[in-house]
Amino acid sequence: MSFVSDKVNKLPPYLFAEIQQKKRKLQEDGVDVIDLGVGAPDLPTPDFIVDQLNEESKIAANHRYSVYSGAEEFKEAVVHFYKKQYSVDLDPETEVLAVIGSKEGIANLMHATINPGDAVLVPDPGYPVYGTAVHLAGGKRVALPLDDANGYIPLYDHVDRESIKQAKLMLLNYPSNPTAATARYDTFLKAIAFARENRLLLVHDAAYDMITFNDYKAPSVMQVPNAKEHAVEFGSLSKSFNMAGWRIGYVVGNQEVIHALATLKSNIDSSQFLPIQKAAAAALQSNFSEVRKHNAIYQARMEKLYQAFKKLGIKADKPNGTIFLWAKVPDGYTSMSFANKLLHEAGVIVTPGNAFGSRGEGYFRVALTVPDERLDDVISRMGQLNFKEVTS
Ligand SMILES: *Cc1c(COP(=O)(O)O)cnc(C)c1O
Repeated sequence: MSFVSDKVNKLPPYLFAEIQQKKRKLQEDGVDVIDLGVGAPDLPTPDFIVDQLNEESKIAANHRYSVYSGAEEFKEAVVHFYKKQYSVDLDPETEVLAVIGSKEGIANLMHATINPGDAVLVPDPGYPVYGTAVHLAGGKRVALPLDDANGYIPLYDHVDRESIKQAKLMLLNYPSNPTAATARYDTFLKAIAFARENRLLLVHDAAYDMITFNDYKAPSVMQVPNAKEHAVEFGSLSKSFNMAGWRIGYVVGNQEVIHALATLKSNIDSSQFLPIQKAAAAALQSNFSEVRKHNAIYQARMEKLYQAFKKLGIKADKPNGTIFLWAKVPDGYTSMSFANKLLHEAGVIVTPGNAFGSRGEGYFRVALTVPDERLDDVISRMGQLNFKEVTS
């Protein structure tokens, strides 16, 4: 007899845990490992946000339970953010909900919306958490193919009619992890039209909405007329404000879905610590100068690596945002054999593209989360490898 549920037993092993294990082994052997595998910001949370947390944490009234749906200040700050950034109006009472990071929100959203056997369209390649969240809620994951030649825009025609009929929900993520692809407004216009035609809920994960380069500004699904009838959008403070460990995000849009998720969550958690919500409110209401500063750092890292890859004959599309570079493995390699070569011969960790779905095969993802000096090391180590020498 096992104490563990079939659901949990059937979860695929968390890839990043396996890579971390390999990393520890190499480090024990004295290898100076450079980890470009983890998609978590290395930069600190801006001081004004930490200061706000410190102030709020001294106030006794902030030590109580939060309102389940999130503190008034936080929800108002989300409304302010959507107005300023996207010219979108939201009702803080019915169209905004605080979540304990978007990962939590997305996982619980599945339980709040789908019934066992319902199909969910999940981007391939895409963030692995989507597929496991669908599995845990008893749903059926159906791949929504994305490919390089189309700029990783959904290929709706490639999904069979029967699967679309069974589908209740579709996930999208732009700017995207792992591909770093960005969307234009018309990508969302089409997505909403597809959702309407097929009576699907569109769930957009906008975790990298603020991490953009040059003049590119990421659109919001909520800018599409009547989007609220067909969609919700998740946002997160984790990446934009380097607040990954704080666990604070939000979901906005369709009232019925927001209400269902709030009802489910009120039975599971009691929202986030009030001082964290209030510090996050200060972040969303700031002038984003810190965000721009950090974006410039990510962009410079991306540019450095992009140019180096070009010299090495490694193909990549230059991204307009995110903290990733998504590149093609050299001829003769699989995602896994190339990631292993970099790990064993250069002490560099990258994430093999097939970890993000079968359509990620042939690619690898680099997280731009180490300082310049370390990227220089990566470049010089990679320069010494012979990519023609296929080992597996
Ligand atoms: C990092 C990441 C998240 C997780 O965000 P949290 O708010 O920290 O839970 C969600 N979606 C994508 C695509 C991410 O890369």
